[in-house]
Amino acid sequence: MTAETISPQPVAVARQALRRLTESGLPPTPDHYAEHYYLIAGELTGQRPEPLLPAATPEAEVTAAMDMVLQILTDTTFGLTAELGTFDGHFQNLINEKHAPTQAPGFSMEQALGQIMKTISQLRQRVADSQAELRETQQLLQRMQDELKESRTLAQVDPLTGVLNRRGLDIILTREFTRTRRQKDQMSIGMIDIDLFKHINDTYGHDAGDQALVHLVMAARGLLRPQDIFARMGGEEFVAIFPGGNASGATFVLDRLRALLDRIPLRYKGKAIPVRISAGVAQMHPGDTVSDLMRRADRCLYKAKDSGRNLVINETDLA
Ligand code: GH3
Ligand code: MG
Ligand code: MG
Repeated sequence: MTAETISPQPVAVARQALRRLTESGLPPTPDHYAEHYYLIAGELTGQRPEPLLPAATPEAEVTAAMDMVLQILTDTTFGLTAELGTFDGHFQNLINEKHAPTQAPGFSMEQALGQIMKTISQLRQRVADSQAELRETQQLLQRMQDELKESRTLAQVDPLTGVLNRRGLDIILTREFTRTRRQKDQMSIGMIDIDLFKHINDTYGHDAGDQALVHLVMAARGLLRPQDIFARMGGEEFVAIFPGGNASGATFVLDRLRALLDRIPLRYKGKAIPVRISAGVAQMHPGDTVSDLMRRADRCLYKAKDSGRNLVINETDLA
């Protein structure tokens, strides 16, 4: 198969789509890629093929692009093998004729050498083309990977406070939950909510409210261990995950956070704004699901609110 020949195989379609995408100068997002893919596939087969890169996961998309690189390598190897075969044939003819008692009519040494030179130059061209093609594909892959990584990170981080958002929390919590169960470890979570946050917004303005959220996250950063995780679940609600921690350890840390915030108000435009929190703590039990754990922590938080706020309650306090 030469570099110009296109077969309607998904990998060949994808490869052509990648090349067109590079030429178009558009960012190599999965959407742009899919657009080109269908366009090329339509040209080749007149019908929509099975998508090579299903919308499933970004990982699947990168994996499929890697397949294309492999396909290019395979094509190149095939091409090289074919041309080396031609080269061998020409050379063998030359040897045969050179040693033949009488040279075949019409045989010209010059012509034979010319053919060999031509094949060598084709070989050189093929290698150069393949190298350029591979380099382009590699750069495209790298950009794709970087963009996917960035978009994944952005999709999991709360832009205001820089901690994980709900989506990031779900992913990490499930991962920690599974790890804890597999390693027969322990783990606790705390659900944290700012007390009377609406009052902060109403009294000092929405921006002051935003700064109160950042103030809380800063205080938490100073108190948590590197392996602990802090995430914004939404609004003024946060979740702390303590991998390997039991309920009393988690309660101790969160009560320090509560006390710290109680002592140090937010400084905003020359004012001292109290930012207080309540929290509920639950420890993972055998047979728990993630929702069971969250529900118990939430029940404790509700109890803390109900008991006057500025409090940390853990599930053993509830019993
Ligand atoms: P409680 O002590 O019972 O938790 O009372 P609360 O006032 O904290 O709770 P409530 O649910 O009544 O109010 C939460 C407020 O948080 C309402 C909503 O406008 C505000 N809020 C949610 N997200 C944001 C945000 O990103 N920034 C700001 N400034 N306010 C937010
Ligand atoms: Mg609140
Ligand atoms: Mg709330």
